[in-house]
Amino acid sequence: MSNKLSVLFCSSEVYPFAKSGGLADVSFSLPKALGRDANVKVVLPLYKSIDRSRFNISSCDRPLSLNFGGKSYDVALFSCEYESMEYLFIYNEILCDREFLYGTPEAGYEDNALRFGIFNYAIIALLQETDYDIVHLNDWQSALAALLLKENPKIQTKSVFTIHNLAYQGIFERHTLHTLGIHEAYFNMDALEFYNQVSFMKAGIAFSDALTTVSPTYAKEILTPEFGNGLEGFLLLHKVKLKGIINGLDQEHFSPKNDRLILQPYTNLTQKLVNKKAYLKEIKRKGIKKPLFVFIGRFTSQKGMDLLIDSLSEFAKNECNIAILGEGEAEYCEALNAVAKEHKNIHLSFGYDEALSHRMYAAADFLLMPSLFEPCGLNQLIAMSYGQLPIVHRVGGLADTVHNYKKYDAKSSQGYGIDFKEASKRAFIKAFHEALKLYSDKKSYNKIAKHNMNCDFSWKRSAQLYIQIYIALVKGGK
Ligand code: ADP
Repeated sequence: MSNKLSVLFCSSEVYPFAKSGGLADVSFSLPKALGRDANVKVVLPLYKSIDRSRFNISSCDRPLSLNFGGKSYDVALFSCEYESMEYLFIYNEILCDREFLYGTPEAGYEDNALRFGIFNYAIIALLQETDYDIVHLNDWQSALAALLLKENPKIQTKSVFTIHNLAYQGIFERHTLHTLGIHEAYFNMDALEFYNQVSFMKAGIAFSDALTTVSPTYAKEILTPEFGNGLEGFLLLHKVKLKGIINGLDQEHFSPKNDRLILQPYTNLTQKLVNKKAYLKEIKRKGIKKPLFVFIGRFTSQKGMDLLIDSLSEFAKNECNIAILGEGEAEYCEALNAVAKEHKNIHLSFGYDEALSHRMYAAADFLLMPSLFEPCGLNQLIAMSYGQLPIVHRVGGLADTVHNYKKYDAKSSQGYGIDFKEASKRAFIKAFHEALKLYSDKKSYNKIAKHNMNCDFSWKRSAQLYIQIYIALVKGGK
């Protein structure tokens, strides 16, 4: 028997099975990195969109019946192995048989409380069957399990709850408690009640044994009204158990050296140019010598879309190319179309396209990331690994990972880029002009881009920090 810690890692999305954003990347790469010190199983819903045959997902022949709120819900367990990790899947038709993970582009599904309630009860059923040391819960979709665990004192497992984005809290109407079989006594300010509604996020914050978020700066920011989304006071109450741990990258998937999705895998900037040339040809633009700026991400206000759209015309007047990949709110798509029509050096790609994003990371010189808030952000880490300099609004994980190029120190192990403090068009444009100036000084630009490529943005250090939390909980509990 191994004396490694046993961990059940629960997430509503995991790359490559189901992904809407960075949570999926983290839920794939963190468990892998933890695997050196812990036996980790990852559990997620078996959504309709997951290709069962591609991943060899098979039934465990262990049907479960979940009983809550006066009803019974049948759940089937499935499993597969992928890249040496073991995955468990929860199938129930209410939870899984939908076109999207959480809702249409217009709105979340109305029965999301029940859908993810089923997921959380299934997690508890797994903990009843198998003795795990730790259950690691992520975001509101698995937050309720922290409370359900307290309701099941026979289960010895300790819980860790990680907030990946406080802007999405899983807030539902009061009657949800009844549907979910949760006692009315939890409907108070110290537990689930949030302005007369029910908050799943609060269950994770209040009832988990340890609480983390995905960067040290975001851990401080969420204690303030500006970033706390109304939960700053509640988080302050639970501050002693809150820690910020920066996300890492899975360097097998995001490494220019081994990237199979790009034309020329590379270890230096000369090789990188092959990718830039190919990408410019792909988007029918000229100017290998001109700086190429890219934006990759969800079109939401969080990502600084208003700032980006307001500044684009100003950017495009300069000798440069700008390429944007993303999907999201219709107004942003329309506004982008309108600006791109006016400027030949702006290229737009709408949709979600993993391979294209890799080609863009490999081609570009600068990443634009003016997020209004950013719990951690992965794009900037990927961009730096691929030899770019990110231009970022100095918040959250961006402040922790992108250091100002003016303070460049060849001996440091941190990445560099251009940052701006105030979320204003003026500050963003100023940063853009700094980028143009730096790029015109090829020697300085190359030195920093090369430095970024050699930085270690892997999970090595952060995975250890999670392991320390797990160990402290297990020791504390015995
Ligand atoms: P968030 O989770 O807030 O969306 P992150 O920076 O944490 O943002 O992670 C975003 C991830 O999704 C990155 O891996 C990024 O490359 C990828 N991504 C975002 N939008 C797209 C898109 N349209 N096509 C391909 N990949 C995308």
